[in-house]
Amino acid sequence: MAKSKYEYVKEFETDDKLLRNVYILVRIDGKGFHKFSAAHEFTKPNDVRALNLMNHAARHVMHELDDILIAFGESDEFSFLFRKSTGLYQRREAKIVSTVVSLFTSAYVYYWNDYFKESRRSLYPPAFDGRAVLYPSEVEVKDYFAWRQADTHINNLFNTSFWALVEKGGMTPKAAEIRLSGTDSKDKNEMLFTEFNTNYSKLPAIFRKGSVLLREQIPKDMHKDAIIPTLPDTLPGSTCADANPSLSTGATQASVSPALGSTADAD
Ligand code: ATP
Ligand code: ATP
Ligand code: MG
Ligand code: MG
Ligand code: MG
Ligand code: MG
Repeated sequence: MAKSKYEYVKEFETDDKLLRNVYILVRIDGKGFHKFSAAHEFTKPNDVRALNLMNHAARHVMHELDDILIAFGESDEFSFLFRKSTGLYQRREAKIVSTVVSLFTSAYVYYWNDYFKESRRSLYPPAFDGRAVLYPSEVEVKDYFAWRQADTHINNLFNTSFWALVEKGGMTPKAAEIRLSGTDSKDKNEMLFTEFNTNYSKLPAIFRKGSVLLREQIPKDMHKDAIIPTLPDTLPGSTCADANPSLSTGATQASVSPALGSTADAD
């Protein structure tokens, strides 16, 4: 086909190909979910419907993009790890990030009513942002997931304490914040136990540790359609006993298998 005289404008596009042979990590995060969660009356500190909807949307992303090995979710964010050797969109950053964000957001909206059954649709369209980060080795990748999971724990312990003071203790949000300032984890655990009869370590793992989605290996002779319809609708909490999730792709109870027939070589 002959080129038009306007075609030169394409030359203005920047080359955003990501470095070869390193892990690509894409993290998405809800835009203004403090407000979005309040507007939709999310249960505080943890709305399990919202977490399950996030997990469903992430599972959809993994269904569509074979090269994602593992995903970790908490609150309004999800992290997706691509295999080192992925050639998705010739590793063009904008294409990869925008596709992850778009797949996630559209699935969040598409499946909304399966989780928030009382409202046919959300009050306004939610949005997510996204970024890609490159990690050279499994050391940084493990530390990355440990970092996010430590964040889950710190935030959840604070939020659980905060909402106990407000909802069960009758404090104002301001007073609760003052009460918690300067406290460490031990103080919060102690307060929850003695004042609110709550054993923090017994709270659901999905709240304390977030959710992990692992791609399982599918035997070569098994067609993907034989597996996908059997996936559970809701995910159990993380299987990681500590903030150091294994990168192995072996089957575990909580692992979800959105694999579309690809073998998950944890390269
Ligand atoms: P930004 O656009 O900068 O990300 P944000 O309001 O989304 O702003 P975050 O730091 O991402 O701020 O925090 C997300 C907030 O969404 C949490 O602090 C919490 O209030 C709310 N939220 C997200 N998921 C849940 C959930 N499952 N249950 C209850 N609240 C939630
Ligand atoms: P890629 O994922 O690479 O963008 P694609 O299939 O979306 O692949 P495009 O070059 O973006 O390829 O072309 C979009 C195609 O979608 C068009 O070629 C056309 O077949 C179809 N399409 C888009 N909008 C319309 C429309 N309004 N009516 C009919 N067909 C449409
Ligand atoms: Mg953000
Ligand atoms: Mg957010
Ligand atoms: Mg967030
Ligand atoms: Mg197109």
